[in-house]
Amino acid sequence: MLYTVLIVDTVTVAFTHWRIAPVYLAVYAPLLLCLFCTARLALWLRLRRRTLSDDEIARRLRTTVWMVAAVGVAFTAWAMSLYRYGDAYTRSHIAFYLAMTVIGCIFCLMHMRLAALLLAGIVIVPFTFFFASTHNPVFIAMAVNVFLVAVVMVLVLLFYYRDFTSLVESQVQLRAQHAETQRLSDENFRLANLDGLTNLPNRRRFFADLDHQLMPLQGQARAPGSLAIGVIDLDGFKRINDLYGHAFGDRVLEETGRRFAAQVTPQVSVARIGGDEFGLTVVGATAYRQLLDLGDTLCAAIERSYVLPEGAARLSASIGFANFPEAGETTTQLVERAYYALHFAQAHRRGGTVIFSPEHETQIRHLSKVEACLRSADFEREITLHFQPIFDTGLHEIMAFEALARWTSPVLGVVAPSMFIPVAERCDLIHALTEVLLRKALDAARSWPEAVRISFNLSARDLNVPGALHRVIRTTLASGVAPHRIDFEITETALIQDFGQARIALESLKKLGARISLDDFGTGFSSLNSVHRLPIDKVKVDGSFVAGIEREPTARAIVKSIVELCENLGLACVIEGVETRAQANALRELGATVMQGHLFGKPVPAGQVLDTYVREPLLSRLGRD
Ligand code: C2E
Ligand code: CA
Ligand code: CA
Repeated sequence: MLYTVLIVDTVTVAFTHWRIAPVYLAVYAPLLLCLFCTARLALWLRLRRRTLSDDEIARRLRTTVWMVAAVGVAFTAWAMSLYRYGDAYTRSHIAFYLAMTVIGCIFCLMHMRLAALLLAGIVIVPFTFFFASTHNPVFIAMAVNVFLVAVVMVLVLLFYYRDFTSLVESQVQLRAQHAETQRLSDENFRLANLDGLTNLPNRRRFFADLDHQLMPLQGQARAPGSLAIGVIDLDGFKRINDLYGHAFGDRVLEETGRRFAAQVTPQVSVARIGGDEFGLTVVGATAYRQLLDLGDTLCAAIERSYVLPEGAARLSASIGFANFPEAGETTTQLVERAYYALHFAQAHRRGGTVIFSPEHETQIRHLSKVEACLRSADFEREITLHFQPIFDTGLHEIMAFEALARWTSPVLGVVAPSMFIPVAERCDLIHALTEVLLRKALDAARSWPEAVRISFNLSARDLNVPGALHRVIRTTLASGVAPHRIDFEITETALIQDFGQARIALESLKKLGARISLDDFGTGFSSLNSVHRLPIDKVKVDGSFVAGIEREPTARAIVKSIVELCENLGLACVIEGVETRAQANALRELGATVMQGHLFGKPVPAGQVLDTYVREPLLSRLGRD
């Protein structure tokens, strides 16, 4: 607007002085001035379409200020030098031109106080002096008028500018306030979504992110292998917590968080979703091979020993993965399946990675069938016991029989205990089952010679669930079998789950007079150190060490050290799963005497126990070697 007003007004003045003034004043000078104004006008129009940086804006405004001064001087000088050429009309035009144009320009520069004041000073002061000194009363009156108007305008300008700057300042403040509010709410969001101990995203964030990531994938054309989720569980963490205290456990978790955080990439994120459970999301690289490699890397990170100021510890991690959409399409489904894979890893590949596969799907379906049948099963009729001898190779006699459950379902046929016992544990049928089995086992044992012991498997839940132990004790006392003939077998998982409760339970069984065997020793995480702190009488070394005993030096070393430690701690030691005579001989060389396995007899029904083993002594079948 400013340059347009200048150009138009200047052209009209040039027009009224055409032929009156010399050509350099009437044509060239205004032409030059108008060209300059046009150039500036074009520049401003072009700038309107660009976003300028703060620095550039400040620089341009400063240029404008001194340019206003220069332009003011040039136009005033030009107009005044035309004054002497014309008559009264053209002179009035000059005065009018200067007064009106400067007022218009000051209005246009309202937001630039310095420029507006400069312009007012540069034009109005010479104007007033110039026309006041013409001795023409009309021009003198005009000079006074214009001067007064200019003063008022400057005052209005100053008030206006003050309001304008305070408006800008309040805007700036408001924006700062808004930024502070935003910062606080960001911080709040961060804290609400962050795990305090490990600084990793927490459970809430993990699930929210997962929902967010799944939403665009669901329903649309399938993009296999685009997203996988994983759950990680630290094996042996609960034991560390129990043994060394929560403060130490926290340090271990912090360190674990750091190790996982080091594995985070744009494709892989890790969150802490529970006590010692971590969640993973993997985008892009979700082929089986890639997930297994990632699992290995994460497991390896955890297996490095933890050296902390408070002490040292060792851990391992098991990981279960579920792939979208193969394993499920919703967050719930995927998480459930990842957990299934994790439990599978813990049961079969401790310290390893398992990816949920179609076979798992079949297994889940089979398990739910087993569960349904077990719920409606008549334990009394369908579930029986087989007995397997535990043989003392030193004394050449049977020390005990282990009771092993057998289920013949009218729907499913024969179901292995390794299948239905975990199901019974999960759906809380185990207590009723244990009660029936214990009664049957003790019934059978009543007919055996007094010297032969009965070994009975208890489930972890029989020890850890309040009230369950009572049923075991009641059944034992009601059986008529002397409690000191009974060995209760428990696996170390029972101890790991709740060390304190397990200890109390074991002590009350011991008080009855029964003895305690630690089953499947060597497959889990018990150190003999923790065994030592529990009232245990016997250790049963897992059969997996026996398979390679003749060839594998490590298996030998492990068995040998367990046998020796048992001796030192005054514990009896039974080796399970002995199938060949060569194995038995190798074990004897390592110092083991008490063994169990197919070599000494397979599990047989209660009715055949006396026939097969007691009346027909083993010694004759095995020879005296
Ligand atoms: P476990 O307590 O370790 O029982 C030993 C398992 O090894 C038995 O399997 C037995 O049949 C098998 N076995 C014995 N000798 C040999 C051998 O020389 N070679 C091989 N390869 N295997 C041998 P089973 O009867 O299938 O039982 C599996 C598991 O189910 C048991 O492992 C135990 O953990 C659980 N279980 C069995 N009966 C009961 C029960 O009444 N209550 C509870 N809570 N668990 C039970
Ligand atoms: Ca057992
Ligand atoms: Ca065992």
